[in-house]
Amino acid sequence: MQVVRARIGATARAAGRESGDIALLAVSKTFAAEAVRAAYAAGQREFGENYVQEALEKIAALSDLPLVWHFIGPIQSNKTRAIAENFDWVHSVAREKIAQRLADARPGGREPLNVCLQVNVSGEASKSGVAPEAVRPLAEAVRALPRLRLRGLMAIPEPALDVALQRRRCAGLRQLLAQLNAAGFGLDTLSMGMSQDLEAAVTEGATIVRIGTAIFGERKQA
Ligand SMILES: *Cc1c(COP(=O)(O)O)cnc(C)c1O
Repeated sequence: MQVVRARIGATARAAGRESGDIALLAVSKTFAAEAVRAAYAAGQREFGENYVQEALEKIAALSDLPLVWHFIGPIQSNKTRAIAENFDWVHSVAREKIAQRLADARPGGREPLNVCLQVNVSGEASKSGVAPEAVRPLAEAVRALPRLRLRGLMAIPEPALDVALQRRRCAGLRQLLAQLNAAGFGLDTLSMGMSQDLEAAVTEGATIVRIGTAIFGERKQA
């Protein structure tokens, strides 16, 4: 955790940014509740999960702690209620129908659900996420839904060792956010950067980095 915080801090300084403007999301998928508890003891509050069933068990086991839970995985329609009822953020909204279901299921007694739209910045047909040219209409639709608060954009670029390529993809997401904000959306979140491309993402303006391996170690094969 301290190593990752130091990476964020050094990169932010080099880029002329404040490290306090970059939130660290600890991606705890496949790791037990006890690992989350240990990270909490080290000062971490925000955690990201990809699999609903696994996440619900952890959230229940850790309900004594004031944690902020982010859903970052693919969203199946039949899981929208569980997500809307148990998470504070969802980073992976890519379809209006899913957003509508999340809005319908968000309990009235809770804060609006914070939402990022997942954008396919790498262009492969296999990757989930909305195409860059379809971001604007989706953003309009999500902004109009009650119980959701549209916060920004998220991307999972194809893994690339070439830092220049990592930066181009992150810059693409930043530019899309800037276009939406020029159109009056008032979005504040760029969710990008994982263990391998943390530096590129911070340099290009990430406000949330999602880090698993560099905090918790290698995941076992699913
Ligand atoms: C697993 C995952 C991460 C963390 O990846 P690491 O390479 O382990 O840091 C971040 N974002 C998403 C969407 C993930 O699924």
